[in-house]
Amino acid sequence: MKRGIREKIIGKLLFLTNGAMLGIILGLLVQNCGQQWSVNASGLAEKTEAVTGTSASANVINQSEKEEENICYLTFDDGPSSNTVKILDILKEYNAKATFFVIGNSLTEENREIVERMIKEGHSIGLHANNHNYSKFYENENSCLKDWELLENRLKKEYGIKTRLFRFPGGSACHYMKGNVKEHIAAMHEKGMVCFDWNVSGEDSVGSPTPAFIYQNVLQGALKYHTPVVLLHDSSIADATVEALKDILGELSSRGYRFETLENRKEYIFRSSRE
Ligand SMILES: [Zn+2]
Repeated sequence: MKRGIREKIIGKLLFLTNGAMLGIILGLLVQNCGQQWSVNASGLAEKTEAVTGTSASANVINQSEKEEENICYLTFDDGPSSNTVKILDILKEYNAKATFFVIGNSLTEENREIVERMIKEGHSIGLHANNHNYSKFYENENSCLKDWELLENRLKKEYGIKTRLFRFPGGSACHYMKGNVKEHIAAMHEKGMVCFDWNVSGEDSVGSPTPAFIYQNVLQGALKYHTPVVLLHDSSIADATVEALKDILGELSSRGYRFETLENRKEYIFRSSRE
């Protein structure tokens, strides 16, 4: 074979080989676009089929995920205080959001930064009481509505906060209650407000509870519900609550709960105050 012809044939063969290799590489790339990595139960990474947003199977998966969603709504009453700062630090660590039912007596200049931080970090603020003294708050039939109006105005004027969440001091079944609780709630509903009692209590405001006791109360209660509303406190004496919080967040997170503010939950009122 003449040298010139042989070089031409070799040149063509090389061109074809390179083309085929490019084809294989492109093919692999396209194939891999349809797959993604996931971690299986044993902790080993494995490849799974990617689910596109438009397929029918994707809709079914999203729906079943929603039905099984576990969202814990942590609420802290009677703050802000120095303990609120510690609570905010822990919540941040776990990327958890919570709701703070504040009291007017604690909205001091000293605590201003704490309230501003709550908002900045995505938590919600609700009305608890301007004056948390039960005999004052429930003094007569209209005193609770008047008190809330004072607190609502303070939050608006001093902090630029407009909230639609409220919680009765002691809960809507509080035995200090004067007048008809259903009427009070109806009056607040008319203003677009939403009432929140709780279905889980940390029992952290009576006596001197230990962190282990609070942890146990919250865990035992919360695991009964897909969307528990947990009562806790962030007052200046709630040191045990602060101590229990890390374990509460850690354990509930590992059991598939995430933590959101009550802005995302439908109203929850004790049955006796509804019927
Ligand atoms: Zn309270």
